[in-house]
Amino acid sequence: MGKYSIAVFRGDGIGPEIMGPTLRVLERLCPDRFEWVDCPAGAAAYLDQGTDLPAASLDAARQADAILLSCLGDPAVRFPDGTEMTPQIDIRIALDLYAGVRPVRIVPGLRTPLADPGAVDFVLVRESTEGLFHTQGKGLVEADHAEETLRLTRKTTEKVCRFAFRLAEQRRAKGHPGRVTSVDKANVFRAFAFWREVFDGVAVDYPHLTADHAYVDAMALWMVTKPAAWDVMVTENMFGDILSDLGAGLMGGLGVAPSADIGDDHAVFQPCHGSAPDIAGRGIANPAAMILSAAMMLDWLGERHGDAAMTEAGARLTAAVDACLGAGETTGDLGGSLDTEGAAEAVLARL
Ligand code: ATP
Repeated sequence: MGKYSIAVFRGDGIGPEIMGPTLRVLERLCPDRFEWVDCPAGAAAYLDQGTDLPAASLDAARQADAILLSCLGDPAVRFPDGTEMTPQIDIRIALDLYAGVRPVRIVPGLRTPLADPGAVDFVLVRESTEGLFHTQGKGLVEADHAEETLRLTRKTTEKVCRFAFRLAEQRRAKGHPGRVTSVDKANVFRAFAFWREVFDGVAVDYPHLTADHAYVDAMALWMVTKPAAWDVMVTENMFGDILSDLGAGLMGGLGVAPSADIGDDHAVFQPCHGSAPDIAGRGIANPAAMILSAAMMLDWLGERHGDAAMTEAGARLTAAVDACLGAGETTGDLGGSLDTEGAAEAVLARL
């Protein structure tokens, strides 16, 4: 197999600090398999080029086999109207990355706020292109009222539900229960009754899997009280945004929460966290979420190209990070004593 071209968004804040060691880990794990294409974007790019998502970067992302992104934006650098820049959301829309994949796993030994978490290993699939983000940046604000619009289309809802069922199918082959839970608010909003109807329609094609429903407020409770009960859940954009941070909290913090935004033709792999300006430049950011996101990229490339070496490398990398986290070989946010470079070296040592 040849080399994969990877668009690399080093980003703002702690972004470059966690991306550098991640690329080094990938180069050591899979020598000569990657070509990195640097893509400026975010606050630094805005100050430098006057745009937070230069056309050349978006083009490079479109051409690449996969996209690795750390974190973009800086609360101190804003557009003239006062809003923060979120080019990662623009990339999701431009490349139609409708399935936001947010794994929530608590490996033994990981410092988590839960006293007795049990075997937590579920995946939250967040629809990432519509929902309540439909009017993002275009909401109506008048003197005495404000409005945003939630939009769900049959096409995208069906695609994201199908994605969740296919994921549950793949996970079932690895010993998971084969269950998909639709998280919605169908008891109050007609749009979510529509979501449920589409979900149920897709479920018919997967009779060997279990399909069920939960209201989002109940799910927020159950993710804390019975986190080991879930396999795959699928939900609307804003609900997913909130629940994925709850998932990160269950794992012990944002420093360890990976994610992928996947469409039919492209995929971005990026940690759940932002650019953490409060700790940027100190070399103490946890690289685990970034490295685990890179492992998801290896797995995705392996599956997409039938490249067993990538699949195997993804599994080895995840296992190495898990082993480090379980043994406390990590950064201060998770109770460890290593700096960013030290935490990445610990992963390499495990490999
Ligand atoms: P955004 O809105 O851009 O997603 P946010 O407001 O959620 O960002 P983050 O930048 O993710 O905020 O940071 C939230 C908190 O988590 C901060 O205190 C930050 O220092 C911490 N944090 C985030 N990522 C990491 C990391 N990789 N290692 C250690 N701490 C982190």
